[in-house]
Amino acid sequence: MSEIKKIVVVGGGTAGWMAASAMAKTLGTRDRQIVVIESDQIGTVGVGEATIPMILLFNRILGIKEDDFIRATQATFKLGIEFADWRRLGHSYFHPFGHYGVDMEGIPFQHFWLRWKANGGGGGHDLFSAETQAAGRNRFMRVADERPRRLPPVNYAYQFDAGLFAAFLRRYSEERGVVREEGRIVEVGRHGETGDVDALVLDDGRVIDGDFFVDCSGFRGLLIGETLGAPYESWTHWLPTDRAVAVPCTRVSDMTPYTRATALEAGWQWRIPLQHRTGNGYVFSSAFLSEDEASARLMERLDGEPLGDPRVLRFTAGRRIKSWDRNVVALGLSSGFLEPLESTSIHLIQAGVAKLLAHFPQRRSEPRLAEKYSREMAEDYEGIRDFLIAHYKLTERDDTPFWRHCRDMAVPDSLQARLDLFASRGEVLARHQELFKESNWLSVLMGMGMAPQGYHPVADQRDFSQLDSTLVQIQQAVMERAAAMPLHDQYLMQAGLNA
Ligand code: FAD
Repeated sequence: MSEIKKIVVVGGGTAGWMAASAMAKTLGTRDRQIVVIESDQIGTVGVGEATIPMILLFNRILGIKEDDFIRATQATFKLGIEFADWRRLGHSYFHPFGHYGVDMEGIPFQHFWLRWKANGGGGGHDLFSAETQAAGRNRFMRVADERPRRLPPVNYAYQFDAGLFAAFLRRYSEERGVVREEGRIVEVGRHGETGDVDALVLDDGRVIDGDFFVDCSGFRGLLIGETLGAPYESWTHWLPTDRAVAVPCTRVSDMTPYTRATALEAGWQWRIPLQHRTGNGYVFSSAFLSEDEASARLMERLDGEPLGDPRVLRFTAGRRIKSWDRNVVALGLSSGFLEPLESTSIHLIQAGVAKLLAHFPQRRSEPRLAEKYSREMAEDYEGIRDFLIAHYKLTERDDTPFWRHCRDMAVPDSLQARLDLFASRGEVLARHQELFKESNWLSVLMGMGMAPQGYHPVADQRDFSQLDSTLVQIQQAVMERAAAMPLHDQYLMQAGLNA
């Protein structure tokens, strides 16, 4: 059966170039050709600026030097997300990357902290997170530059210009033999017997054949959806936002080493500081607010001068049930969409690329591999989905119909089980492979006001005065560390990272 000699990537957005560059690095272009087709006429979605720490791993695997990458993409550092007005108006909490305190006896830190608090210990869980404390002071430093050495790493990601990132990866890919074809695909050819995709016809009549296709064509899913008809499962009954209006503005203040997500009347607003501009958007539900109203609201909330007109994007939360069908794998927006509340889309591309490489087929048709891949991607999507829903469901807000809807909506059983366990004893149900782990759930559930009734019995085994002094010491060390870091703007300059 036909071997894979030619891989065709459809689309040159973030997904297309992430897939092409990773395949060029790991599979190489000596024994097989890698072609990317993109259309300047169609363009890319043009948003997607905030990431999570896994992106560091992607760059490391590709051998990309961090400083080059930061300068090329106008990036800033990101320690987490500030959630303003989510629990109630005027309240805010921080979801940091990284951990709280230190685990003891193999039991997560929060159990010891919960016991401490129950017995009069002072200080919220935020005081045990270096990322939260640094972000609160607008400070940042990479661990390699910190004194003393041997500190645990401060976890971070980037806020960057995704268009510049795609251009950076395009150069990287072309230097490694990837061929780019400019043109609009107007027809998809399929093998008469197998039904596999085998050729793409461009608007100028050129025909590009291939053995294996990676569909990175964006929301339309040109191959996976329009051609193969892979069904899409909608989750709008749990994640009601279905529109975003986006506009960048000039930068007028210091760059915060974090993204801000502010809950508004029918959704939420993102604010993402980059070196050359600030990204802004209002993600909302069209059942509760019109596009014009959302645009006007966003424009009045900008803290700089708008750099263009607001642009509306429409989406449906959900995923392709089969993200690998026949000889087509869908990556990026063609495989599904979860709103950008926790900056997970670029990560989902990365997860898809990693799984594709781990399962890379020898022949065009490998149904068992396809099945395994689709199942694993479904688990990734569902874990993130539950985490996002929790942000809405736990609100105490009842000031608008949107928030009343969120508060009263039913949630998936898998999320309810997680909420119940956390409420009873502060324990988090997260699979080993799941993206959001103990500390992530902890910050959001506590931030939204959940207060566990109990904790792990091992926490009671510690002598209380010893526990008290350990926790006070950890708190002090975290504070001192955060206070010793330079301001984020200053650090970018000192380290020569300003573009
Ligand atoms: P696209 O960017 O749409 O690229 C599609 C490509 O396919 C283009 O090159 C296009 O030319 C090509 N194409 C399509 N049809 C044809 C054809 N017929 N012929 C030839 N070429 C074709 N992600 C994050 O990680 N963080 C964020 O903060 C974030 N914010 C977001 C905010 C919003 C409102 C939205 C909608 C998304 C956000 N995302 C975010 C997601 C992120 O933008 C996408 O995951 C990412 O850009 C990948 O897009 P893509 O490459 O799949 O699709």
